[in-house]
Amino acid sequence: METIRFDELNLSEPILRAVAEMGFEAVSPIQAQAIPAQLEGRDMIGQAQTGTGKTAAFGIPLLQKIDPDNKKIQAIILLPTRELAIQVAEEIRRLAKFMHKIKVLPVYGGQDIGRQIRSLKEGVQVVIGTPGRVMDHMRRKTIRVDHVHTAVLDEADEMLNMGFLEDMETILSQLPEERQTVMFSATMPAAIADIAKRFQTDPVMVRVVKKELTVPEVTQYYYEVRPKNKVEVLCRLMDLYSPKLSVVFCNTKKGVDELVQALQGRGYFAEGLHGDLKQEQRDRVMNGFRNGRTEILVATDVAARGIDVDDVEAVFNYDIPQDDEYYVHRIGRTGRAGRVGKAFSLVVGKEVYKLRDIQRYCKTKIIPQAIPSLDDITDIKVEKALEQVRDMMETADLGPMINIIEQKLIEEDHTALDLAAALLKISIGEDNEDIIDNYEPARSLDDLDRYRRDDRRFGRGGYGGGRYGRGGYGHDDRYGRDGGRGRRRGSVERAAVDYVTGQDMARLFVNIGRAQNVSPGDILGAIAGEAGIPGRVVGSIDMYDGYTFVDVPGKYSAQVLKAMEHAKIKGKNVRIEMAKRN
Ligand code: AMP
Repeated sequence: METIRFDELNLSEPILRAVAEMGFEAVSPIQAQAIPAQLEGRDMIGQAQTGTGKTAAFGIPLLQKIDPDNKKIQAIILLPTRELAIQVAEEIRRLAKFMHKIKVLPVYGGQDIGRQIRSLKEGVQVVIGTPGRVMDHMRRKTIRVDHVHTAVLDEADEMLNMGFLEDMETILSQLPEERQTVMFSATMPAAIADIAKRFQTDPVMVRVVKKELTVPEVTQYYYEVRPKNKVEVLCRLMDLYSPKLSVVFCNTKKGVDELVQALQGRGYFAEGLHGDLKQEQRDRVMNGFRNGRTEILVATDVAARGIDVDDVEAVFNYDIPQDDEYYVHRIGRTGRAGRVGKAFSLVVGKEVYKLRDIQRYCKTKIIPQAIPSLDDITDIKVEKALEQVRDMMETADLGPMINIIEQKLIEEDHTALDLAAALLKISIGEDNEDIIDNYEPARSLDDLDRYRRDDRRFGRGGYGGGRYGRGGYGHDDRYGRDGGRGRRRGSVERAAVDYVTGQDMARLFVNIGRAQNVSPGDILGAIAGEAGIPGRVVGSIDMYDGYTFVDVPGKYSAQVLKAMEHAKIKGKNVRIEMAKRN
């Protein structure tokens, strides 16, 4: 596995500084190909998924081309959802942190257009938006495209699935001829290949070619976690399995430093290893780990390469790796010299699909597990403490202690049982606050496939299922993949239970539909935005000419109805209520 550093890529100084501050250690495999191709000015098609570092793969070359003294819009990034717009805008802002004059703005349906117009008027060079809203601004002339030299279509296949084909075409056809057009898509349906043919010139194809890999004999588990609970879950796993030596992988140097601090703060013997350390510090950390003084080594992929320690009992993927190959290398750090090793991966949200791909590609089994509860941890700690007590009773001279206890029992009004219980509590340590409220087992990665097959009931095109056939994450997948605007007339199917999350869903009726020129994305954006719920929890959106049905988790339905009482979608007043038909 060859590594390329960012400073080998001909990047400008402010970008290198930003990347260093973000804690990136090495260029990800897709970046290694995509960045040089774009810096040469070539049009490009990248086949890559979320989590591979694709945002920086197009964001870095794009930022290098922006003239900071020109206040006009120079780059437009189109993407399918509001969440992605916000996420990509944040990543690009971080990359542009030291390019002070560069302004970046996300624009998406559902957000007050007046506010967007005010921001646009202040001078923005990079616009990141959903196609519907970008078109809207182009019509109003609040987005002018005559200075645009770079266009990016991110998750092009998802935009197609969400019914944005025409909008994408209209926008691209109005951009200046002289421009660079970059497209990222996980799959290549015919309509997307056709866009490439019509709107790109001699594009370079970029994707990571997979090598055959042998997966070591390691038992692999995964846990679905919320970002804020990651440290707590890691600690619980450490307590539950208490591996003598373990390696924890993070994707960035910054991640390593932060995690080491958090673990040390909780009393674990943890040290970090990454590329910023001097040889001397590395040696010190590695020596500590070899002789067992350091029990937990927190490392980046690059730094961990040289680790030659045989008795690592467990590997933790604190972050899911950016490349399947990294996963195999990581878990290969345990289970060496004939020992049985364990690997634990923490996945957040959509990353579960990435893990599913890893399982598929590596032909291995990654078993879902419930997050251990505090009671589980207490049981283990009590068990361990009692074991020590037994040892002590067998081996030590307890005479003097017995005298002290007897004295206490006489002086104070306690029983021996009270005293033993209090000592046991002291020995197992403080109770942690129970911040994790869900002990549900994670979903099986194979079941994700099954849910996905169910999706095809709704007329998905035939390009799913392959290595790149992830077919969307979460709700984006359920608009009916007929390549058009989710035409599903006739029977109204009620999704009583969302087949991806298993949640109870409530069906809402909105008195606006295709004939009013709104797209599923507009409705999704408005509902998620107004009610402040994550877009991914919204279920199917069935759009008809004059109305739309939207499934939302039952527990959010009241909140959505209230929030939408006076809301507008694409400037139109709407009425939204519980659907009458089930
Ligand atoms: P993306 O595929 O763009 O959704 O990126 C996934 C995550 O990887 C984001 O949090 C990025 O900040 C992060 N990332 C991007 N490039 C790198 C890199 N070279 N090294 C480490 N992390 C990265």
